[in-house]
Amino acid sequence: MKKIFITLLAAASLTACDATKKSTEKSVKSVITKSVKTSFFIDSVRVKKHLYTLASDDMQGRKSGTEGIEKAAQYIENEFKRIGLTTFEGLDSYRQTFNFTPRRSKEEITSANIIGVLEGNSKKEEFVIISAHYDHLGMKKSGDGDLIYNGANDDASGVTGVLALAEYFKKIGNERTIVFAAFTAEEMGLIGSTYFGKGIDAAKFVAGINLEMIGKTPSFGPHTAWLTGFERSNFGKIVQKNLEGSGYQLFPDPYKNFNLFFRSDNASLARLGVPSHTFSTTAIDVDKDYHQVSDEASTLNMSVITQTIQAVAKGTESIIDGRDTPTRVVLKEKK
Ligand SMILES: [Zn+2]
Repeated sequence: MKKIFITLLAAASLTACDATKKSTEKSVKSVITKSVKTSFFIDSVRVKKHLYTLASDDMQGRKSGTEGIEKAAQYIENEFKRIGLTTFEGLDSYRQTFNFTPRRSKEEITSANIIGVLEGNSKKEEFVIISAHYDHLGMKKSGDGDLIYNGANDDASGVTGVLALAEYFKKIGNERTIVFAAFTAEEMGLIGSTYFGKGIDAAKFVAGINLEMIGKTPSFGPHTAWLTGFERSNFGKIVQKNLEGSGYQLFPDPYKNFNLFFRSDNASLARLGVPSHTFSTTAIDVDKDYHQVSDEASTLNMSVITQTIQAVAKGTESIIDGRDTPTRVVLKEKK
């Protein structure tokens, strides 16, 4: 694969030698898009680095309002900068900072969503958001042994996916504008994503790709993931079509009783009509590490997480490049 890629790159550079730098870049990008596989740009080495950094004891469980989550915020900002993302409309940095008072608390805290943007080539005003929450539960106040809720699967794995996909699409190019968001305070009640949703024109958002717990082998077996709210738009069907022949399969969320569609940040945008869904691989009904201090990076399977990120890239390709637009979500929630 690598050899073919280099040959094609050279060919693209040669044929474009008289043209401007911009058109050279464009032709190189189109050659890459046609020839290269997601595996070339999404590799398990980088995935492992993101995951182990975000889930390290140093981050102290990434609870919103703590020093631990501040370290995670800085890591994500530095990665966005290294990758070359721009800032979201109305913000002068990657941080969307706000104050709130958590439920069952009297103390107001300050926290921030971390947001980066890759402007689209031809459909700049049509947005696709790729998100995950970077907060988790923090630390136990007392006790013996491990006190840190590392949240490796929940949701350092998802943030790892957001970072890897940002790097991927920066290299591949994108027709629609992609907004990459690491949300805060999901564990306190989807607070970061709800705040984000209040400040946007939801009509501009054509799709939401949220990643939650993508580091463990699902009950459907290897090379599979499941999607929440599958029947609520045709987003999942589009992904299935794009994955045909790839050896990776997407299934509807099998845990209907868990009401998962409304339990992660995708819901904050789905409530505004955006076809916004969560990808996951974890058998949440039997996962013994869910919301436990044992949710450590070492319990995750690097192949599962890497292959799932690759599948999300491949599966959403036609949405990112503007060929497919999923149907809007219509909610009939009981109040
Ligand atoms: Zn989560």
